[in-house]
Amino acid sequence: MARNERCWCGSGKKWKVCHRDRHKQPEPPIGKITHEMFVGQQRGLCLHPEAGATTCTNRPIKAHTIQRRGGLEAIAEGGHVISGKRGYEKIFKNEGRVVPDRIGLANASTFMGFCGLHDNSLFEPIEQHHFELDDSAAFLLGYRAIAYEYLTKKNALENVEIQRSLDKGKDFQTQVYIQEHLHLYRTGLIRGMQDLEYWKAEYDRRLISGDYSDIQHYALKFDGALPFVCCGGFQPEVSFDGRQLQILTRSTEELEPVCVNVSVMNQQTFLVFAWLGGGGGPAEDFVHSFYSLHDDAKANMGLHLAVEHIENTYFRPSWWESIGASHQRHLVERMRSGISPEHERTSEAFIGVDSILSGVPVITEVVPGDFKQHVAGDV
Ligand SMILES: [Zn+2]
Ligand SMILES: [Zn+2]
Repeated sequence: MARNERCWCGSGKKWKVCHRDRHKQPEPPIGKITHEMFVGQQRGLCLHPEAGATTCTNRPIKAHTIQRRGGLEAIAEGGHVISGKRGYEKIFKNEGRVVPDRIGLANASTFMGFCGLHDNSLFEPIEQHHFELDDSAAFLLGYRAIAYEYLTKKNALENVEIQRSLDKGKDFQTQVYIQEHLHLYRTGLIRGMQDLEYWKAEYDRRLISGDYSDIQHYALKFDGALPFVCCGGFQPEVSFDGRQLQILTRSTEELEPVCVNVSVMNQQTFLVFAWLGGGGGPAEDFVHSFYSLHDDAKANMGLHLAVEHIENTYFRPSWWESIGASHQRHLVERMRSGISPEHERTSEAFIGVDSILSGVPVITEVVPGDFKQHVAGDV
C-alpha cells in the first residue's frame, strides 16, 4: 500500500501509522487487553428518555437487571452464582475453552444504564417482593432488558477498537485473519445497534405516554424455584418446533425482538416474554411455539432458551456442579450458538435438547388473547 493510503484493515487510519510495521511491534500482553475490555464493558450513561433533564443526575449507577432480593438471592450459594459470560471473560486463561465460573451477587446481572434517580423511579414497581405480572410489569421487565442489551452492545462496539491491536507482532496472514474476524463481528454489532436504537425508541415512546397496551406478554409461574435466572432481549431466529422465523443477516427490515425475564417471587420462578408487534409476526410466532409446548417441557425449554439466547443468565452453583460434564458441555455448546460461522444456529436449535430440568409443573399462566386463535405454522 502507499504510505498515506487508508489502511486495508478498515480502521480509517493511514497505512503508515496503522499496519505497515504491525509485525515488528511488540505483542500486547493479553491480560492488559482483557482488562481494558472489562473496563470498557462497564461504561455507563443514563438511558432514560428524559436523561439530561433537571430530574436526571446523569451519573449512572451499577444496578441489577435481575432483582437481587428474591431473584438472584434465591439461586445464590455463599453469595455467588454461576455465569457463562464469566467463562468468556476468562477464555484466554482457559486456553480457548469457555468454563462458566462464579460471580459475586454484587456484580451479577449489573449494568450502568440509568442514573440512581431514574433507576429507582422506573423499576421500583418490579423490585417489590410481590407484583402482578400485568401489562405494566411486562413493559418494565422488557424495557430493562432492551436497555441492558443496548448498553452492552454499545460498549462491545467501542471495545472493537481495543481488540484491533491483538494482531501486533503477528505475521501478515494472522493480521488478516484477526482483522477480518473483527470486521465481521463489528458489522454484526452495528446492525444489531441499529435495531436496538429503533426498539429502544419504541419502548421510550410508550414509557413517556404511559400507554403499555400494545406490549404483548405471556407469563408463567412454576411450582418452585428453578436453578437459573436471566434477563435479556434478542431477535428470535428459529421456533421451538424447528421453523425458521427470520434470518438476521439477510433482512433489511426491522427485526422483531423478544424480551425474556426469568426470576423468582415467593420461592416460585416466573418467566415473562414481552414483545412488540402482534399479528403473527416472528416475535409472536416464537413465543406461541413456547406456549404450545407440553407444560412438563416448559422448565427445561426455558433453561435452553436462556442458554441459547441470553448472555445475562445465572445458575445455582451446586446445581451446575450436579448436572455432570455431559450436560455442562451441551449447555456451553449452546451458549456459543450463533456467534461465529463455526457455531451457526440451525432451525433445529431447540429440537432434541438434553432433558436437564424435567417435570417441573406450571402453576399459572397469563396468556394473551390472540394465542387462543393463532395456529402455529399455519400456511
Ligand atoms: Zn490497519
Ligand atoms: Zn437519569
